[in-house]
Amino acid sequence: MIAPTALFALDTLLTEEEREIRSTVRRVCDREIRPHVAGWFEAGELPARELARTLGSVGVLGMHLDGYGCAGMGAVSYGLACLELEAADSGLRSLVSVQGSLAMYAIWKYGSEEQKQEWLPAMAAGERIGCFGLTEPDFGSDPGGMRTTAKREGGDWVLNGTKLWITNGSVSDVAVVWARTDEGIRGFLVPAGAKGLTVNDVKHKISLRASVTSELVLDGVRLPAEAVLPGARGLSGPLGCLNEARFGIVFGAMGAALDCLETAIAYAADREVFAKPLSSYQLTQEKLADMALELGKGLLLAVHLGRLKEAGTLTPEQVSAGKLNNVREALEIARKCRTLLGASGITLEYPVIRHSVNLESVLTYEGTSEIHSLVIGKALTGIAAFT
Ligand SMILES: Cc1cc2nc3c(=O)[nH]c(=O)nc-3n(C[C@H](O)[C@H](O)[C@H](O)COP(=O)(O)OP(=O)(O)OC[C@H]3O[C@@H](n4cnc5c(N)ncnc54)[C@H](O)[C@@H]3O)c2cc1C
Repeated sequence: MIAPTALFALDTLLTEEEREIRSTVRRVCDREIRPHVAGWFEAGELPARELARTLGSVGVLGMHLDGYGCAGMGAVSYGLACLELEAADSGLRSLVSVQGSLAMYAIWKYGSEEQKQEWLPAMAAGERIGCFGLTEPDFGSDPGGMRTTAKREGGDWVLNGTKLWITNGSVSDVAVVWARTDEGIRGFLVPAGAKGLTVNDVKHKISLRASVTSELVLDGVRLPAEAVLPGARGLSGPLGCLNEARFGIVFGAMGAALDCLETAIAYAADREVFAKPLSSYQLTQEKLADMALELGKGLLLAVHLGRLKEAGTLTPEQVSAGKLNNVREALEIARKCRTLLGASGITLEYPVIRHSVNLESVLTYEGTSEIHSLVIGKALTGIAAFT
């Protein structure tokens, strides 16, 4: 018997350092996350502060950024960390993605030196948490329509509007909020507890339950002039951050798929049906073979895109291709694995149904599968079919 990843000799594409980082993150997940995550999911809770400190202590928060206490690792290393985190739970990977690729990246890429010094070292250490407020109740796929405004009043900015579906919202020390101004869309650093800011958690989720999702209501939030991110003008600011986070999902989704497939292979070996192991039936083996193929192809694609990112040539269309393919296939793998587990597949005793329902969120956030199809369609035809 070989591991599903061994079929494609994936490790031969990785450096020793990359394999070491993957093992380190896996060990942390085995010790700190896996024993508890089904309980957090069931309760709809996450000890985000403690986890952020743990993850900060092993250097995964903003690990692909340079300086300011960040680890400065390559794209493939970051991707492998996302894979291991999401093999534990998509909610954990979401915490890390939003912290590192959305909130920290926005400050790192577009922030002033003072903003970087103030926030990045503490965020890399997991002592402070960030969130990223782009989506609004009426504008998700079309963020350019946003209604949140920031108006200058004397030397200050005053923000009004509502952001919805904001990961890490109520556990954040700082929110990167995107708002419409006279100069186009700009980003603002809104500290927790700012007067006029109300944060409400989204309840009754049946996906990503081990993740905090919030609404941010900004009612006349007054910020000093230096709260604006000086380097971002227009929608390209937030979209640049989303591209970073989407890259992590290309790897992460395959982590969820791998965990499902490993669980299903072990279950099918143990489970006897009609007096023989489930894994000895041809129908089962065909399912396992098909899933191993899609997993292997998705991992090869992820590593390839990671190498392009490291070379500085990765395009947004290529990230869309990776996100669309790997999340879609991961969801298919999770569903197929669930069938192999029979009734046991619907309980939290096994991780498969949890991954499956989590991946429904991953399919939607960071650009829905439809939006990524349209991005690829535009690249292939030269015609934008969004509107
Ligand atoms: C758990 C979770 C966490 C999230 N975290 C964050 C976060 O931290 N920060 C943040 O800013 N946002 C976050 N989001 C929001 C997420 O990015 C949006 O939900 C997503 O962009 C889709 O927007 P929407 O839900 O408004 O759907 P809509 O945009 O209303 O889309 C509804 C449907 O219409 C389709 N559609 C849209 N446009 C077109 C078109 N032109 N042609 C054909 N079909 C189209 C979509 O693909 C989808 O199927 C999160 C969402 C979830 C579920």
